[in-house]
Amino acid sequence: MRHFFLRRSFPRGKVSPPMDDFDAQRNAMVERQLAARNITSPRVLTAMRNVPRHCFVPLHLRDQAYEDRPLEIGHGQTISQPYMVAYMTQLLDLRPTDRVLEIGTGSGYQAAILGSLAQRVVTMERIESIGLTAAHLLCELGYGNIAVHVADGTLGWLDEAPYDAIIVTAAGPSVPDALKAQLADGGRLVCPAGPRDMQRLVRVTRQAELFREEESIACVFVPLIGSEGWPV
Ligand code: SAH
Repeated sequence: MRHFFLRRSFPRGKVSPPMDDFDAQRNAMVERQLAARNITSPRVLTAMRNVPRHCFVPLHLRDQAYEDRPLEIGHGQTISQPYMVAYMTQLLDLRPTDRVLEIGTGSGYQAAILGSLAQRVVTMERIESIGLTAAHLLCELGYGNIAVHVADGTLGWLDEAPYDAIIVTAAGPSVPDALKAQLADGGRLVCPAGPRDMQRLVRVTRQAELFREEESIACVFVPLIGSEGWPV
């Protein structure tokens, strides 16, 4: 169903190669860049196989959609590299009944991956035009369980709190306290934190009022800008 829609929505013979090429490229990406490295969760691998990343990148970059690197999406922002998306998603350890909050909607790609693994996704974006574009695309692609809000995500989204999982896809100096407070008991939060030029992924696990923090791999994300992030 989804592919049928996508086929019709692109002008014939222009920019996009036939859909089967994208499918083949996506399967190759999952085998070579994810499964061959340390992405072992069958559910995460399936989600990465199913979500059409090429739909979330600008038309002129579509031929690079399945390379393992971030790509520009406008306004100085990027869609994260596939490996990082898979790695962070794996750290979240999602169950089908989970309710998830994402900060940094960007292209909407990470939200689509989350939406195919969890029951409900709330995603927040501070740049209005980016948020609206992602909201339309996610709707067109049929992700009815994802809500996009344009607001400062460092404060979280209280209306649907608490969340079983929270993922931040932009980097602030530290993990925002407001987000920790919106984590459910037993919940997992994954967030890049550290100086502007290089950060580490931090995974926070909540057990009642105890927050256990573990550091994971080094990474470079665009800045998280807001009350509990970097100043504008
Ligand atoms: N998850 C995205 C990648 C996001 S890039 C994807 O899959 O494509 C990071 C995004 O975070 C940018 O779009 C940026 O505008 C947004 N951002 C930065 N600070 C934010 C904040 N305080 N609240 C919400 N979004 C923020």
